[in-house]
Amino acid sequence: MNGTKETPIEFEKFHNIVDGLPRSSTNFHRGTNPSDGKELWEVPIASENDLDDAVEAARKAFKTWSKTKWEDRQEIIKNIAKEFMKYEAEMGKLVMLEGGKPIQFAKFDLGNASKGLLWAASEKKFEDEIISDNADLKLTMRHVPLGVVGAICPWNFPLPISMNKIGPALLTGSTIIMKPSPFTPYSILKLVEIAQKFLPPGVLQALNGDDKLGPLMTEHPGINMITFTGSTPTGKRVMASCAKTLKRVTLELGGNSAAIICPDVDVNKVAPKVALAAFFNSGQICVASKRLYVHKDIYADMLAAVKKVVEGWKTAPAVEEGTMLGPVQNKMQHAIVKDFFEDCASQGYDFALQGEVGKGEGFVVQPAIIDNPPDDSRIVREEQFGPIVPMLQWEDEDEVIARVNDTTTGLGGAVYCADLDRAQRLASRIEAGNIWINSNEKPLPNAFFSGWKESGIGGESGRLGLYNYMNTQVTHLYKADVAKL
Ligand code: NDP
Repeated sequence: MNGTKETPIEFEKFHNIVDGLPRSSTNFHRGTNPSDGKELWEVPIASENDLDDAVEAARKAFKTWSKTKWEDRQEIIKNIAKEFMKYEAEMGKLVMLEGGKPIQFAKFDLGNASKGLLWAASEKKFEDEIISDNADLKLTMRHVPLGVVGAICPWNFPLPISMNKIGPALLTGSTIIMKPSPFTPYSILKLVEIAQKFLPPGVLQALNGDDKLGPLMTEHPGINMITFTGSTPTGKRVMASCAKTLKRVTLELGGNSAAIICPDVDVNKVAPKVALAAFFNSGQICVASKRLYVHKDIYADMLAAVKKVVEGWKTAPAVEEGTMLGPVQNKMQHAIVKDFFEDCASQGYDFALQGEVGKGEGFVVQPAIIDNPPDDSRIVREEQFGPIVPMLQWEDEDEVIARVNDTTTGLGGAVYCADLDRAQRLASRIEAGNIWINSNEKPLPNAFFSGWKESGIGGESGRLGLYNYMNTQVTHLYKADVAKL
């Protein structure tokens, strides 16, 4: 055993964490290093029995954790954030190898994850709210811990996304079971192992599984809430499954976010932001700019400038010095991205930046920009989640807003405009939960994050996000005299 309260953390052995202890399995799988296609370490696959044990431990732990003082929970969360950063070098390497992220960005993820936890730890306690109080009636509202939370995570930002679930759940008095994506199980299992030092058994657990585990969690009657981050099709299945036990459910799903670039901007100042927005993490960001709408007056200049920025970046295996864009994270996503390349080529669209889907063992994809494809093309209509992005021309505000909103999703959006009144007017007309003005898209822990339309249900982060992790109770206290005479 390793990584219990006293023993050291090892970074080449991975366990599920159940009831405070490392747990192995009779079945294992291995993740793949996206940079070279080689297998990584063995990781146990949790069984249904492991899940039942974890739920039982979480329910038991909830009894005391939910009554632990808010201030004490804050302190524990702060300690986890600090402890986890002590392993920056080892965890950074893990994220680089499992996620295909250049080391500087792997460490950036750790920093964001830690900031997310520290933000949660800084939030003040929810006091009872008196809605009204008069001679007849006192109405009081209070928010109480929910129970056991199941957290189902994707592969693109395993640590920051997990921390955005762990912090709020623990702070508000719930216990939580993490399920990482089987593509990136390592960093989440290790984080949960590291955190055990500060927590009673069962408060924070982690189970890696195969494709049976997610559905087992969403159906489990002992889990009170599912917080899910992933694709829209899976989100619909999660919601349908949660309906059987009427679990609380938060869905953070996919999107097809658009950036609108106005003609009054300095092309050279904005192009680097737009390039980052579209291509950072090789386009594998839920709120990445997946469609770039540039005003016709600056279109040619902006296309040339964004192209120049991206051409200046090194796209290569994550381990290579100086890499800016690492590989796509997994084979399945690589195939999806390849399909977009092939569709654009077969339709005869103009590749302003040629790009290339690597043929080697790893999943490196050289970035591509498609010059003004039709509005009904697949690259405009669908979420590519990879480094191939359409740039489109617009002329009139009403027209661009209609095109931007012509999608079933509504996760994010961006507006670049020197005239801030115009920027805000445009931003307010985009049908999406998160809009950035004059910046690439950067979710923040203190800003509520939610998707409109098929991009989600509920939301996370910010104080508003904390409410999703609690039950609310209103007491109607009538002041009638009911005492025996
Ligand atoms: P998936 O939806 O494929 O998987 C997400 C998680 O769900 C995995 O842990 C997966 O594990 C699990 N899962 C799959 N099927 C089920 C099921 N039926 N019941 C329960 N759990 C299930 O998403 P990806 O991992 O491919 O992530 C990419 C997507 O996530 C993109 O669309 C992206 O936009 C979105 N995303 C959204 C974010 C947001 O905040 N809105 C942030 C980051 C990404 P397994 O496959 O083993 O079951």
